[in-house]
Amino acid sequence: MIIVWRQLGKTKVKKKFSKSDLKDFKKIVLRKKEEILSDLKHISDDTLRKSQKEASGDISGYTYHMADVATDNYDREFSLGLASSERKSLYELDDALKRIEEGSFGICDDCKSFITKIRLKAVPSARLCIKCQQKREKK
Ligand SMILES: [Zn+2]
Repeated sequence: MIIVWRQLGKTKVKKKFSKSDLKDFKKIVLRKKEEILSDLKHISDDTLRKSQKEASGDISGYTYHMADVATDNYDREFSLGLASSERKSLYELDDALKRIEEGSFGICDDCKSFITKIRLKAVPSARLCIKCQQKREKK
């Protein structure tokens, strides 16, 4: 068991990312940001439309169709909830960009080894290597 662990420890000492790797990561992060921004725009347009509909106010409609109102409110809360999780992702991507600039990108917060390229390409905002991520999820 100890021997296996040592071997893993050795493979942990990885080469730093090259400049072209970092450039690729930056592109991936920026593309993800754009995707989220366009999603957010879509959500806020939708939410705005609903508010305008309410503001233009068919008050009697509200009295007679309480169930509909409840559904509308639920939808809006759902959209806003979604938007806030998108905002969190945006923040994480911005953070990843900052780390690319600083040169600390792709280093695991817990064990300080390099996170694999495959993982970073899938989740560019990852701050933990797979092993540390799994360890945290178990807790
Ligand atoms: Zn780690």
